[in-house]
Amino acid sequence: MTKIAIIGNGLSGRLAALYLDKHLPGAELTMIDPDVPNKPIVGESTIEMTSQFFLSLGLGTYLEENQRHKYGLTYYFPRPAMDGDMEAPGAAGAMAEKGAMAETEAAAEASPVAGAGGGPDYILHEAPGVIRLPAYNLNRFTFDDELARRVAPLVRKVTGKVTEVEISDEPGGQQTIHVMDKAGETSTVTADHVIDCSGRARLLAKQMGLEQDPPFQRSSYWFRLAGFDRSILNGLNVDKPRHHCYDSYSVTHHFYGKGYWIWIIPMQGEDGEDLASVGVTYRPEILGEKAMNQDKMLDLLSRDHPRVRALIETGRKVDEARYYNYMYEARQYYDTRGRWFLLGDSGFTFDPAGSLGIAYLGHQIPQITSMILKAGQGMLTPAYVEAMEGHVQAELYKQDQLSQRYPVMDDPIKLSWTLVFNYMAYFHLFLPDYMTGAFLNGGVAKRTMKLLMRKPAEMIPVAYAFPQIMDKLSERAKEKGNGAEIIATAAHFHKAVPFNFYRGDNLKRGRVAAAYLYKRGLLRAKALRLLHWWREPSLWPMVAGQYLRTGGEWLLALLLVLRPRIYERPASKDPAMMSAFDPQYSFLFPEEAASRGRPGMGRPDGGTADRKPARAKDEAGQMPAGVTATTGNA
Ligand SMILES: Cc1cc2nc3c(=O)[nH]c(=O)nc-3n(C[C@H](O)[C@H](O)[C@H](O)COP(=O)(O)OP(=O)(O)OC[C@H]3O[C@@H](n4cnc5c(N)ncnc54)[C@H](O)[C@@H]3O)c2cc1C
Repeated sequence: MTKIAIIGNGLSGRLAALYLDKHLPGAELTMIDPDVPNKPIVGESTIEMTSQFFLSLGLGTYLEENQRHKYGLTYYFPRPAMDGDMEAPGAAGAMAEKGAMAETEAAAEASPVAGAGGGPDYILHEAPGVIRLPAYNLNRFTFDDELARRVAPLVRKVTGKVTEVEISDEPGGQQTIHVMDKAGETSTVTADHVIDCSGRARLLAKQMGLEQDPPFQRSSYWFRLAGFDRSILNGLNVDKPRHHCYDSYSVTHHFYGKGYWIWIIPMQGEDGEDLASVGVTYRPEILGEKAMNQDKMLDLLSRDHPRVRALIETGRKVDEARYYNYMYEARQYYDTRGRWFLLGDSGFTFDPAGSLGIAYLGHQIPQITSMILKAGQGMLTPAYVEAMEGHVQAELYKQDQLSQRYPVMDDPIKLSWTLVFNYMAYFHLFLPDYMTGAFLNGGVAKRTMKLLMRKPAEMIPVAYAFPQIMDKLSERAKEKGNGAEIIATAAHFHKAVPFNFYRGDNLKRGRVAAAYLYKRGLLRAKALRLLHWWREPSLWPMVAGQYLRTGGEWLLALLLVLRPRIYERPASKDPAMMSAFDPQYSFLFPEEAASRGRPGMGRPDGGTADRKPARAKDEAGQMPAGVTATTGNA
């Protein structure tokens, strides 16, 4: 019987336990945690990947009945300011304080694009309709309680703090975990695999000297708000495509300023009442502020987003927490022999922008499971582990990109276009890699790492789209006041992003990647047109280069439309490098695979084709046939 020790009973530990129980039904799971009360909990906004992962854990009905829907990430871009513009964001805010601002979308419609003498305060990027794949804004306190309730019968619980983990060098040897309880009593747990989910305690990274500084720091301050007047959010003076699909309150709201951004996540309180998580994340050296608190946050809002301040002032703070310079990394996340793994915050921390944190748990947990399955089959190779490690590095590349965005967060032109590209890449490239399970193939993971190769901090270039074009457009917008048009018309948020995927097994990744390249070229051409470059000969060399790039992107798109399989070529056919899940989408949808007569667990080439479908936990608690049982003492 495979024995797995999970250190930490936070979100990572609980999700790992639920997933492992489902995909390694005979494994013995031990969870160790000191159970300290009142730990700070953060991370309420999910994205489509996160929800798919939750649904695969059987949480669908629970989420529908107990948590609130989230209809995408909504970005508020202040209309760019011009010299002497009394309607610009700060000025607009001041007017709002006097009650002079238009309160409704209808008012914004009457003057949809800002210009001299009026118009909306914000240009919005908002999903144009209900995205087919659901997402939720979680009340993490009730959600985590539900997870604990579900995990309890699946694990052997040990209450205490892990003080040390001895990693065995013997082939097939067991790891020994030393635990101390509140009374100072010590005990040991042995396991074939140790998953460190100890969060910011970073147990294994510290013990093994794997800690590493990230290229950039971040700080966060957040609180939960009750009793507020939510009509203020609905009533902001905004420019966006009109729709009748959902209440625009039910999204994750993002507001920006130089060196910082603010989230508002509406959620459901314990008794069904409105609650919101409100937080600010910032780079202290750019914002010029070290330790944030509510008063300082309100000052910031008075300057940049007065209506958000007004919203906060109608409510009551329920709790608060802050992390100062909280980013860290590790030099290694997965052991090449599969003895230990760092999961979640025990390995590295996330910038909450884009709500990628829990979504990446939905990657790491299947990665770890795939490695454990392979180890059980005697098929785990260092090359496969390094490929999975490479995928983690690619995720950290995204964190570097987010870090580099803080200097331009007060530039709505650069930021709005960049976020369109992020969304496009997410829906066209990363979501298909996830839903199909392709990211668990060593070859695909290596390609992702090569495409998103990290660089040392000093070599990371600016992180906004089409820098040469955007620098010019941003300058022009300030001079001529056509910024709103550049954000709202050209970026085509609702047209560029394919919000309509709904199944993992039918995604033709090559075709979807072709669409990405085509749209990328198209957006570049649109941006160039907005420059009116034909009137300015000094721009012509730059413009020629940009059109050449567009041509290249379109050629590549055409090639992928004609031969979409080219996109699949990096996927390895070597069983040692393939996902342990067969078919590969069964890491998420085992029931679907089973209903098509495919077992959906373990690769047949690893001798596990005769396994039971997932969920069918062996009554005798044995590993299903085909998985090499490793023995050990309790
Ligand atoms: C400001 C902020 C906002 C975020 N917002 C989002 C968001 O909106 N969406 C999103 O997807 N993600 C978000 N994230 C990321 C998300 O919150 C984290 O990825 C997630 O909470 C990590 O959980 P964890 O289980 O790894 O760590 P934790 O929740 O910290 O759990 C660690 C556990 O380990 C236990 N432990 C510690 N030491 C020991 C020991 N020695 N022995 C045994 N047990 C031990 C602790 O008691 C605890 O139970 C956000 C992160 C931050 C910082």
